[in-house]
Amino acid sequence: MKRIGHVIGGVPAGTFERTAPVYDPAAGQQTGEVALASVGEVDAAIEVAQQAFGEWRHASLAKRSTVLFRFRELIVEHRDELAAAITAEHGKVLSDAAGEVARGLDCVEYACGIPQLLKGGHSALAATGVDVHELKQPLGVVAGITPFNFPVMVPLWMIPNAIACGNAFILKPSEKDPSPSLLLADLLQQAGLPDGVFNVVQGDAAAVNRLLNSPAVQAVSFVGSTPVARHVYERGTRAGKRVQALGGAKNHMVVLPDADVDMAADAAVSAAYGSAGERCMAVSVVVTVGAVADPLIEAITERVGDLRIGPGTEPESQMGPLITGDHRDRVASYLDIAAGEGAKVLIDGRDQAFDGDGFFLGVSLVDAVNTDMQVYRDEIFGPVLAVVRVDTAAEALRIINTNPFGNGAALFTRDGGAAKRFEQEVEAGMVGINVPIPVPVAYYSFGGWNDSLFGDSHMYGAEGVHFYTRTKVVTSRWPDPSTSAVDLGFPTSS
Ligand code: NAD
Repeated sequence: MKRIGHVIGGVPAGTFERTAPVYDPAAGQQTGEVALASVGEVDAAIEVAQQAFGEWRHASLAKRSTVLFRFRELIVEHRDELAAAITAEHGKVLSDAAGEVARGLDCVEYACGIPQLLKGGHSALAATGVDVHELKQPLGVVAGITPFNFPVMVPLWMIPNAIACGNAFILKPSEKDPSPSLLLADLLQQAGLPDGVFNVVQGDAAAVNRLLNSPAVQAVSFVGSTPVARHVYERGTRAGKRVQALGGAKNHMVVLPDADVDMAADAAVSAAYGSAGERCMAVSVVVTVGAVADPLIEAITERVGDLRIGPGTEPESQMGPLITGDHRDRVASYLDIAAGEGAKVLIDGRDQAFDGDGFFLGVSLVDAVNTDMQVYRDEIFGPVLAVVRVDTAAEALRIINTNPFGNGAALFTRDGGAAKRFEQEVEAGMVGINVPIPVPVAYYSFGGWNDSLFGDSHMYGAEGVHFYTRTKVVTSRWPDPSTSAVDLGFPTSS
């Protein structure tokens, strides 16, 4: 059985006094055990990171960008290995895992431009003889706490900008799919990053809470569910840290009567059921406006019939298993809850049979859902798509804007005026117009609104650089050289 430990100061570590099982979700079998760090192990990582920060903060921008460029090349060389490591413990299909690596790579490429990104302002002659300039300096030891659903991409939302800005980083990955974090540590070491600038501490709430309580950790980036995001934000900020905590989601896709139904149906199927619905930007509610409901449901149903569900390693699979058996059962339980509340379960994922013990569940489509139902209110995080029927676009907008989450929202229409109105008025941090999963490119920043984000910085892009630096403004005045005791030959300035 594989034993998955920490990397502290560039070397493997872990007492394995407490462990958690790691599964191959497609087989439903335990393949490894991951160490769960004690407070002492977390403290050891923090101490090593503090020491490494002492030197790394002084590394030139040229040196930092050289490390990042090499890291970029190594990710490209090892992308199949990274994708395979994701699929082995997460279960998503290999093509999806490769896409995850590619999106993470975008964030590394962005950070390669750190000499440009850290340029501060400069004002000559702010007053007579007075200049003002700005320094953007690193914070110190910063931590990243990440969810199971993107074990490579989400850490790469944080690590490249954090280290490029001169910080030392401690990653606490999800205990459900911990192995890819060790590959990232290895590639960073191969790229020439000094030991201790990047560390991995495997663990659960005990490790997270130690990171939050330690006065030596200056900032925490978190991505995960809303209750834990709230906890991380409240505890971290109470301890005086800078915190960005991205939470859960319930993403709506509104389809207007003029939309291209085939385009909308393709989008709904891939955005609701891709990666088994375990994406924070997954579409979990389709809001149909007027007469588009029946043709759209028919088009979605046709496409669902062709979906191939199977192990992520099989090239023909389009959707893999869920992360654990417990999570699969929790997702499935919503189908009875929905029927009990009066919704119509048009496709019940439990009807599809699978060989073996894998954590598979077929996809589900639930019609006639209203906003009081649990199937609408809860983040299910599985392949269940709810349909809410309304009469007007204004009603669709009102539904989104009264939902507590505000991660992504999409509109399908041919009407530019309606699209403009939607993008202006919708309460969500990321908006798609005929794009179901509007994840911003790496040179913008990722983040939701309301219960989908605690803190004021979104992740990666310019807001990522802002989060991992603090600004110092220097005001300077130099005596006129003509007044120097040594004659430098300058005439007296007027
Ligand atoms: P999770 O909240 O259970 O876990 C996230 C991290 O927090 C893990 O590292 C875990 O070990 C740790 N953790 C769990 N319980 C904790 C506790 N009580 N105290 C301290 N730390 C704790 O999330 P998950 O199940 O791994 O991931 C799925 C969730 O993440 C979904 O809600 C999804 O929407 C969300 N997510 C959000 C985004 C986003 O950008 N907003 C992106 C990806 C995932």
